[in-house]
Amino acid sequence: MTTFKNVTVLGTGVLGSQIAYQSAFRGFQVTVWDIDDAALEGAKERFAQLAAVYTAEVELPSPDAPQAAIGRIRGTTDFADAVKDADLVIEAVPEVLDLKLDVWAKVGAAAPAKTIFTTNTSSLLPSLLALATGRPDRFLALHYANGIWQRNIAEVMGTEQTDPDVYEQVVTFAEEQGMVPIRVKKEQPGYVVNTILWATMRAAIELYLNDVADFQTIDESFRVSMVTPLGPFQILDMVGMNTVYNGYVTGTELEQRFAKIVKAEFIDKGKLGRSTGEGFYKYTN
Ligand code: NAD
Repeated sequence: MTTFKNVTVLGTGVLGSQIAYQSAFRGFQVTVWDIDDAALEGAKERFAQLAAVYTAEVELPSPDAPQAAIGRIRGTTDFADAVKDADLVIEAVPEVLDLKLDVWAKVGAAAPAKTIFTTNTSSLLPSLLALATGRPDRFLALHYANGIWQRNIAEVMGTEQTDPDVYEQVVTFAEEQGMVPIRVKKEQPGYVVNTILWATMRAAIELYLNDVADFQTIDESFRVSMVTPLGPFQILDMVGMNTVYNGYVTGTELEQRFAKIVKAEFIDKGKLGRSTGEGFYKYTN
């Protein structure tokens, strides 16, 4: 068991709001920090939406648990106030290196000695950020998936400088927070989950571009053989075509060829994936 009581989440966007809400749902006192009052107002709306989602989709310890979770979250725009009593800081600000370096320098200057520092970065290695904190032995990555109440994994990835005891405390926290912790033993771009996913996607796209099989057949063979509900092209529809395009447009020759098709055949025709009702497939709801 950890001794953590106070968790501070920096950034209350898509992932920050989910991480904060899930932590509060599991009984932690949560402080959220964001750049201004408008951002914090947006967060309030996201917490209310999450309470409705949990009510509908999550097994509740008591009927009032989703609302009680909101009661355990407080917001602030003052950095020093946000971290002053934090046992754990989870950073979920935009994926921009300079911005994250700036945030971590401020946290390092303001947080008490007990605080453990984690980043939810998707694509930056934690060793790029660790020194900025001034306490690299207390810094590591704790990476969640979008849709935290269902896809409840937390990848825990330290740097060569992370104190092993700090690493273990974060693994235990992830369990207490209702996550399945994934121990990543060394730094790896994409952690475990995205490394597997990206390789699968690359193979599926290559089969498609080389016209070895059509996308429906590729998906079906994957679904049936792996006993899994979604094939690679259904996953691309879920991710959304803009994100798919941004991910591949500067990649290998094959990926750039695919990005051009995504732009011409999908984005330019308003087919952005599941969110707009059409991508590779048509969706009725
Ligand atoms: P987002 O854009 O939805 O939210 C970012 C939050 O940071 C906003 O609340 C914004 O107000 C705040 N913020 C703080 N400082 C800011 C500044 N200087 N300028 C602009 N905004 C500032 O982002 P997100 O999707 O929640 O991603 C946050 C982090 O989580 C990123 O590192 C991302 O890689 C990671 N992540 C995202 C996902 C995902 O599916 N969205 C999944 C896993 C990890």
